[in-house]
Amino acid sequence: MLCHAKLRVTQLVAGLFLWGVLCSSPSEGGDLVTTVPSHHTASGYRNSSTNDTKGLGSLLKWRWEALWKNIPSADAYQFPMAENDSEFLRSNREKTTLTWIGHATLLLQIRGRNILTDPHFSERASPVQWAGPKRAAPPGLALEDLPPIDAVLLSHDHYDSLDDETIRRLAERPTAETTVYYVPLGFRHWFEERGITRVVELDWWESSSTDGKLKVTAVPMQHWSKRTPFSRNGTLWAGWVVEVEGFRFLFVGDSGYGPHFREIGERLGPFDLSAIPIGAYEPRWFMKNHHMNPEESVMVHQDVRSRKSVAMHWGTFVLTDEPLDEPPRRLRTAMNEKNVPAGDFLVLRHGETIVLEQEAETAP
Ligand code: ZN
Repeated sequence: MLCHAKLRVTQLVAGLFLWGVLCSSPSEGGDLVTTVPSHHTASGYRNSSTNDTKGLGSLLKWRWEALWKNIPSADAYQFPMAENDSEFLRSNREKTTLTWIGHATLLLQIRGRNILTDPHFSERASPVQWAGPKRAAPPGLALEDLPPIDAVLLSHDHYDSLDDETIRRLAERPTAETTVYYVPLGFRHWFEERGITRVVELDWWESSSTDGKLKVTAVPMQHWSKRTPFSRNGTLWAGWVVEVEGFRFLFVGDSGYGPHFREIGERLGPFDLSAIPIGAYEPRWFMKNHHMNPEESVMVHQDVRSRKSVAMHWGTFVLTDEPLDEPPRRLRTAMNEKNVPAGDFLVLRHGETIVLEQEAETAP
């Protein structure tokens, strides 16, 4: 009995860690003068298309209800790992490839450039490594096996996307000098504190081109930011569009479903390849504004006009109430209902690489 109570308390404490990851009571702040963009506030940033008023009471309600749902822990899952060819990935300069390393961490190789998204190679998505959401599967590619990284794309400050230990390890690599970090507004100082100075900080719809060939654009997402009890929406959140020699890639990052996807499709689409989140969506009354479900992920695939999409933000950390292996099943059903061909929205195994030629194909 005592053991049972202890488990419940542990779950509650773990849930409070998630406050910084998943839920919100966004600070709307006051408007600055009218010349600044409408998503800027006096104290930070806000979403363009949703008013979310959920606060601490809603958070506690969610955590309290979750206590009685017997949500399986990360240890309950065994995901099949793909065997990738890290030697090929390190030497590849010609082929366009995408490797799902886990959660929102992807390696995109395009026209000889290596781009890493939301790098996370640590055991937990948490400010500490002794508590908080633990991995259900190891990184599908070891950090040491990565090729030299040209660009890192960061979506926002939550612990499942921005991992301090991983950023420090990346900065210690012999090839770290050449890595450019593309970040939303408000992160430059955080990176400089870790000795990283090649930081390009962008607002929504702003673009940067370091060598005239690789163009990176920040795009709006419907999310929020919080990393400590004292900060809330003080840094911006964003998705990223990468364009190289006519090839267009969209990294959604973390977002609820909203009209911004259609706008991204209209302004910057169609996309040759997109990475779209499919997990961390239950319960809907609490998550809907900031996390899409698989049915909405299919709508995003169509809204942005993506030729091929890859699922991400699932199967790695237990962050919300749905079973960790549920998102791919729901995605398949939603694709059938919307007549999306099976090969157009792929669910990869951890570590799996796809090679995109004229037509994408799975790597041998
Ligand atoms: Zn997040």
